[in-house]
Amino acid sequence: MQGTDTLLIRNAAAIVTMDDESRVLRGADILVQDGTIAAVGAVPPEQAARAARVVDARQRVVLPGLVNAHSHSPLAYAKGSYDLVNHRAALWMFQAFTANATPDEIRCAALLNCLEMLRTGTTAVIDHFPEQGFTLEQVDAVAAAYNESGMRAIIALRIFDEPYADIYPPAGAFPPELDAELRAAAVLEPRPAPDLLALVEAAIHRHHDPAGMVQVAPAPSNPMRCTDALLAGCQQLAERHDAIVHCHLLETRVQAEIAHRRYGRSQIRHLDRLGVLTDRLSCAHVIWADDDDIPLLAERGTIPVHNPESNVRGGSGVAPIARMIRAGVTVAIGADGSPSGGNQAMQHSLRLATIVARPQDREVAHWVTTADALRMATRGGAAAMRQRIGCIAPGMAADLALYDLRSPWWTPLNDPVHQFVYSETGASVREVFVAGRQVVAEGRVTAFDEQAVLEEAQGRFDALLRRNHRLLDLSRRLAAATLR
Ligand SMILES: [Zn+2]
Repeated sequence: MQGTDTLLIRNAAAIVTMDDESRVLRGADILVQDGTIAAVGAVPPEQAARAARVVDARQRVVLPGLVNAHSHSPLAYAKGSYDLVNHRAALWMFQAFTANATPDEIRCAALLNCLEMLRTGTTAVIDHFPEQGFTLEQVDAVAAAYNESGMRAIIALRIFDEPYADIYPPAGAFPPELDAELRAAAVLEPRPAPDLLALVEAAIHRHHDPAGMVQVAPAPSNPMRCTDALLAGCQQLAERHDAIVHCHLLETRVQAEIAHRRYGRSQIRHLDRLGVLTDRLSCAHVIWADDDDIPLLAERGTIPVHNPESNVRGGSGVAPIARMIRAGVTVAIGADGSPSGGNQAMQHSLRLATIVARPQDREVAHWVTTADALRMATRGGAAAMRQRIGCIAPGMAADLALYDLRSPWWTPLNDPVHQFVYSETGASVREVFVAGRQVVAEGRVTAFDEQAVLEEAQGRFDALLRRNHRLLDLSRRLAAATLR
């Protein structure tokens, strides 16, 4: 929804613009007209006088709303559900918390995810949705949640037409009866490519507005679980409807090895041969890219989405982000599903993105900086979503988050960028605007009823887990067997 009035954010203690000069302005104003930033700096008094709304920002640091470029809203129910679990066992846990969900459970999980994001200053998300096969009714449910939330969202519909091979343990790794039960559970069954492409196109017709707040995108679960026909079909759909393409890519070493065996080249080179490696494509993880893949990503404008928390939490690896940035690759960042990172507060991901790889490289000049991390969550996310966001400059959408300086994390005020990445937790957010519309006031979400969502979520979660108790039991037995 576009605001139709004029908003003036007046005299901000600091504005971290993320503009082309990476300017941080002190004591400056932001003028917003019809949802778009009209002026930044000292707004002349005659223009200021015409503003319908004025926000006194003397005690505020203003940043672009953050972009969470890889999340899974159905996993909002799975936060805090496990600890010592590898990637495969985690995939099974996820089934227990997401399979067989009703439209109401899907809508509520998405709103719960939005609540976390809005409260911590994130205004846009790529939701790689859902875990399993889906219906149009389920897409309607998640789209309804985003329309209600006031957030900017791309519903990236997760599809695959080949077996989810990496979810099954290698033969002989576990007791035969557990192995048989896992295969009998049949949770992630592939569907034919033409059916999937038709389903995604139908969802695009219903919910995709290239100029709007909610968009839909084809989103292969992972290229290794897709035929070439499906991958090429996704690219054609995206071009036909001006949409992005999103996927998981090279999250584990095993995935990289499978790609080399299957194609005789790297997964990234194979995508390039199919014509999918373009600036429409954003891919989560990209931990196990080959060295010579990195310049190719830069050349094609493809956007890796760094997920430092889930990469490390599941023991998958540390992505070569510093090398990507030095090679000119545009990188975005995401929280991934809540059980992987723990929550949707992007500040945690930014901090980890900055420090996680430092022990591997003693050359200080090579380290990911706080500015790099913040750029991933703003300009990088904007590139992944192909929208005019992530920067406080005239002509950009007015997606803004205001942080209260009167908090322990901002006292005393040093360098706003370092302090945002290293100290802020998301708890100082006081006002949030999306396309000029206020969606958080006094630290509370105003676009929907926070309390009602929290109460509803507990009940929906209990019902879902009762329905999926066999899957939960199975996933716990697999996790226990993995530890043995
Ligand atoms: Zn993911």
